[in-house]
Amino acid sequence: MRNKKFCLIGHPVHHSFSGRYFNEKFELEGIDAEYLLVDLDDINQFEALLLSSKWSGFNVTIPYKKEIIKYLDSLSLEAEEIGAVNTIKVCYFPEGESCAENRAKNSVKDCKPQLIGYNTDVIGFESTLTPLLEPHHNRAIILGTGGASMAVAYVLRKLGIEYVKVSRTAINSGNCGDNIISYNQLTAEMVESHKLIINTTPIGMTPNTTEYPTIPYDALTTQHLLYDLVYNPERTLFLQFGEERGCKTISGLAMLYAQADAAYKIWEDKI
Ligand code: NAP
Repeated sequence: MRNKKFCLIGHPVHHSFSGRYFNEKFELEGIDAEYLLVDLDDINQFEALLLSSKWSGFNVTIPYKKEIIKYLDSLSLEAEEIGAVNTIKVCYFPEGESCAENRAKNSVKDCKPQLIGYNTDVIGFESTLTPLLEPHHNRAIILGTGGASMAVAYVLRKLGIEYVKVSRTAINSGNCGDNIISYNQLTAEMVESHKLIINTTPIGMTPNTTEYPTIPYDALTTQHLLYDLVYNPERTLFLQFGEERGCKTISGLAMLYAQADAAYKIWEDKI
């Protein structure tokens, strides 16, 4: 048996990037660990899974990023504000004692695992966005209102970038009091005045690679930065339309690697 065991839970999980990524990393870096994919039909199965082995950490994917929270002992500030967790650190120590105090004498015997939830999409997005930002990227449009949009909005608030979200449903405000408009309300003038545009919808993702968000592309300028959270394909039509108009673009692939690296650092107490 390997020294450390990590696991992705979700439904479905078989197409996951994480399994390949972590097992290749462990192999290449000589880390005595394994990463398993566990498809849970129901989140109620999580407790039995937790007790079935000495896990070092979990990743959580769709549809359990919110539902998992009720099983956790504490949350990072980001995870708490966003209301979604994609990484769990498991600490084993006697009940009532803190993780830091007990890290040295980490023993599964007589210990109750303590679960701490994090959201590494925040770290992945922030670390890949900030090197590209220029002073005129002070207003943003976020396409989509799902889980990933919450992490993106959290980062923009932290960076002091104003934003508006665009949804297929016309509503005035959503979670965290966000301003939400419909695609029909997204005018060329708005695109002109918001130089950062982030796609957090799955539009354009394989196999639907001929699809793209319906926004006024002709209003894009060379000052625009287009960020697509979709990572497969790496060059979506959304990004191609931006490139044709001289925009700076970035695909979700860098964020995907950055959020996975951040999860591993959390498990290893490196951040
Ligand atoms: P989600 O919770 O399902 O939300 C996606 C949102 O996109 C929905 O709330 C919806 O907003 C909008 N949407 C969905 N289908 C649409 C369609 N056909 N046309 C227009 N809008 C649509 O998913 P998520 O977890 O936020 O993930 C969204 C995307 O980001 C996925 O492609 C995921 O793979 C990607 N992602 C990438 C990374 C990375 O590291 N690169 C990390 C997280 C997520 P409205 O109903 O308001 O329109």
